[in-house]
Amino acid sequence: MHTLKIDNLYVETDGKEILKGFNLEINSGEIHAIMGPNGTGKSTLSKVIMGDKNYIIKKGNIYFDGISITDLTPDKRAQLGIFLGMQLPLEIPGVTNADLLRTALNTKLGDEFSLMPFIKKMDKIVKKLKMNKDMIHRGINQGFSGGERKKNEILQMYMLEPNTVILDEIDSGLDVDSLKIVGTNVMDYFNEYKPSILLITHYQRLLEYIKPEFVHIMINGKIVKSGSFSLVEEIEKNGYESIINMIEENKSNE
Ligand code: ADP
Ligand code: MG
Repeated sequence: MHTLKIDNLYVETDGKEILKGFNLEINSGEIHAIMGPNGTGKSTLSKVIMGDKNYIIKKGNIYFDGISITDLTPDKRAQLGIFLGMQLPLEIPGVTNADLLRTALNTKLGDEFSLMPFIKKMDKIVKKLKMNKDMIHRGINQGFSGGERKKNEILQMYMLEPNTVILDEIDSGLDVDSLKIVGTNVMDYFNEYKPSILLITHYQRLLEYIKPEFVHIMINGKIVKSGSFSLVEEIEKNGYESIINMIEENKSNE
C-alpha cells in the first residue's frame, strides 16, 4: 500500500505562479481524475510530482508513504515507483526503447534482472497494445505519430511496473481505436497491479474505459471541487463555466 500526498503546493516557473495551494492524496487501488480547462496547471502538477527542475516549489510538500520527496531527483522518484506518462512525450534519437527500458530495469532490479523474461514480456505488451514490433528497436518516439507515442508511454508503464501512475492527457491525439486500446490497457494494468492512478484529462471519452472513483476539478492552480464519477457528467452537461461562476459568487459573498 502506497500513498502520494500533495500538501498545499505553491509552484512557479518563469516568475509566474501556477500552482496555488494544491492538495491531493492518492492511495494504492484508487483512480483519481483531474479535469480542468487549458492552462490551469495540470501538466505543471504532473511534472512537479516527477521532480522537473524547471518548476520551483515555493511552499508546500510532496510526500510518498509519509516521507517528503520534495527534494529528490526524478530518477530517485522513479525508483520509488512513481511514473509519469507525458502529455507530449519527447523524441530521444539514438536510444532505442529496448535500451532505455533495459537500462531502467537493470538499475531497479540489479542482480535480479534477466533478459529473457524482459524480452518475452515486452513482446507480449507490444502485441497487447497493437504496436508495430519494430518500434521497440527504433529511437525513442523517433518518427512516432501522436498515438504511437502515447502507446509507448503505456508500454513503458507496463515494463517498469510503477506503483504510482500519473497519466497526463494520455487520450490526446488518439483516434477511437487507439483510445480504446490505451484505455483498456490502463484498466488491465490497474486490475493486475493495483497502483495509485492520477488521470489528467479534459475529455470525457477516456473515462468510458477508465472509471475514476474520485473526480477533481482544477481551476487556476488548485482543486476547486471534488466528487464522485457523477461530477464528470455534470461537467459534460454544464461545462466548467457553472463551477467558475459558483466560485466567483462565493467570493463576492465573502
Ligand atoms: P494545463 O496542463 O492545465 O493546460 P499547464 O500546466 O501546461 O496547464 O500550464 C499552466 C500555465 O503555466 C500556462 O499558462 C502555461 O503557459 C504556463 N507554463 C507552463 N510551463 C511553463 C514554462 N516552462 N514556462 C513558462 N510558462 C509555463
Ligand atoms: Mg496539460
